[in-house]
Amino acid sequence: MKSRYNYRVYPTSQQKSHLSQLFGCTRVVWNDALNYCQEVYSKGESYQGFNHLSKKFLKQAKKSDERTWLKEVSSIPLQQSLKDLDTAFRNFFSSCNGTRKGPKLRHPRFKKRKSAQSARFTKTGFKLKQNKVYLAKIGYLKCIWSRPLPSAPSSVTLIKDAADRYFLSFVVEINPVKLPENTESVGIDLGILDFATLSTGEKIKAPKPLKARLKKLRKFQRKLSKKQKGSNRRERAKKRVAKLHAKIKDIRTDFLHKLSTRLIRENQTVVLEDLNTAGMVKNRKLSRAISDLGWRAFRQMLEAKAQMYGKDFRVISRWEPTSQRCSNCGEIGGKKELSVREWTCLYCGAHHDRDVNAAINIKVAGGHSETLKGRGGTHKTKANLAAPDEASTTFKPVQLSLF
Ligand SMILES: [Zn+2]
Repeated sequence: MKSRYNYRVYPTSQQKSHLSQLFGCTRVVWNDALNYCQEVYSKGESYQGFNHLSKKFLKQAKKSDERTWLKEVSSIPLQQSLKDLDTAFRNFFSSCNGTRKGPKLRHPRFKKRKSAQSARFTKTGFKLKQNKVYLAKIGYLKCIWSRPLPSAPSSVTLIKDAADRYFLSFVVEINPVKLPENTESVGIDLGILDFATLSTGEKIKAPKPLKARLKKLRKFQRKLSKKQKGSNRRERAKKRVAKLHAKIKDIRTDFLHKLSTRLIRENQTVVLEDLNTAGMVKNRKLSRAISDLGWRAFRQMLEAKAQMYGKDFRVISRWEPTSQRCSNCGEIGGKKELSVREWTCLYCGAHHDRDVNAAINIKVAGGHSETLKGRGGTHKTKANLAAPDEASTTFKPVQLSLF
């Protein structure tokens, strides 16, 4: 099983300038090729594939006057950049003609100078030496080994995020270790007031430092919006927002990892409701709160960890009336407004906390997956570990370090 291991690195100032040159080159190669593909497409001609792109935008481009500087950086990340574009196009095509499942994919987009940057090195482009990592034409990078690598990595992606932090993301082969089986199962209701309510009655709040920083973030963003475009002050304000964003993301990821690890450890079966987060994020009122909560990331973590440690992760249909049904007698009592936090069942008289009742129903529905199938009941989605072709340059770490 493939997984990603990420480490912070601290390049010297000279290496930083080499890296920005490298990032610039991978970006130019991607954008040149994408531009060309769009022209080809508008002429009604068909897509010609990676080899053609590589020949045209690496081999031939290096000989031309305007792109001769591509020779100054390692050619491996440039090739990988075109490989990624090729994968992005192929996924897009198969999404269009329906051979690829899941939500519709967008057309590959141009890369911008100001967003997060990345460059991938395959085996011939990097070496691990004692405590340092050697990258072709960059040199030895000082790396913080927060945990040992489990095996020799097959590739490494160098990432610079919006807060100017550098990371190395290794793809390694890991041996899944099964955790001892138990008979426990849990249903989880995800919410806004409490991040998660368990069928055991436990309520889990999002960490406090997160809330405080979100307030601060709003303040920073307001200040940023008042700064004049193109000014130095605006750039500084932007960096400040990016840094705080990074901090918030770290706190949230840490919280989600700890919670998902605990739930997978304690239970044999973990059941979650399939939330239409994409649809919900379109709803403006809820959107801010939801994207801050990281439901999607939480689900991906549960999925990956269950797969890795031999546990059962189930997702029940979002059409299941989990908040309407009485978990005591099973009668459906009709729709309840979000403001109704507690209610009493008209049929059996049981008094319910809205979220705990929903969590119990989710757990029960997950246990009866057979009867649910006809109504689009449980289904499994692919765990988001590392793409087998290692082609994801987007920084989506699902670390499995907490066991
Ligand atoms: Zn009842």
